[in-house]
Amino acid sequence: MSRTPIIAGNWKMFKTGAEASAFIAEAKAAVAAVSGVEAVVCAPFTALPALVESTRGTAIAVGAQNMHWEANGAFTGEVSGPMLVDLGVKYVILGHSERRQYFAETDETVNKKTKAALSYGLIPIVCVGEKLEEREAGSTKDVCRVQTLGALEGLSAEQVASLVIAYEPIWAIGTGKSSTAADANEVIAYIRSVVAEAFGADAAAKVRIQYGGSVKPENVREYLGASDIDGALVGGASLQPNSYVALVEGA
Ligand code: PGA
Repeated sequence: MSRTPIIAGNWKMFKTGAEASAFIAEAKAAVAAVSGVEAVVCAPFTALPALVESTRGTAIAVGAQNMHWEANGAFTGEVSGPMLVDLGVKYVILGHSERRQYFAETDETVNKKTKAALSYGLIPIVCVGEKLEEREAGSTKDVCRVQTLGALEGLSAEQVASLVIAYEPIWAIGTGKSSTAADANEVIAYIRSVVAEAFGADAAAKVRIQYGGSVKPENVREYLGASDIDGALVGGASLQPNSYVALVEGA
């Protein structure tokens, strides 16, 4: 089963629309020259219209970093799936550890959002990963199992096969302390086995599972070379066009 690797930049709370357009102008030719990799950039809501416009006709797809599970309603400050679809957004990061930590995301809300995103034709990038204490206590796999099954509960095998999971050990995010490729591959292979148990071998063989946490051009090849790692979700190193292009080339 060959899975197309996916490099997704997570810009977090960085970049205006004008900055997003300038980034794409600089990166698009080099990204178009790379084949066999899907390139995505996930931007703040306010930069999405400019990003959709500037990526039109390029090899770079656009993602959001969150959404609400309802289509409309009295949810001040929230943005829904249909609103993202209306803009031309294709991907949406769900359950990022920063949202779990600062905005009270739970496995239950991640599950509602994942179901909603799929129902609107968006491709979720569902994030799972353990905290440092959990890793030190030896519960990395248990935490990933609970988060994965929680996020995917009630989905069909076809839906699971179509989405992306990002394994991001929290202690490796933005810290410069990346998991070794061997360790990340072991956890990702385990997550794939959890998917196989719950949704069948075909879904497990098709679902793409990225590694995230201090990925940079210098180490991206090690991760992508591992048997079960299907790409990377990248924060800091995705903010500069030359670095983002190097990540895509490295995949
Ligand atoms: P980082 O962030 O690459 O800056 O460690 C990864 C992420 O939070 O998705």
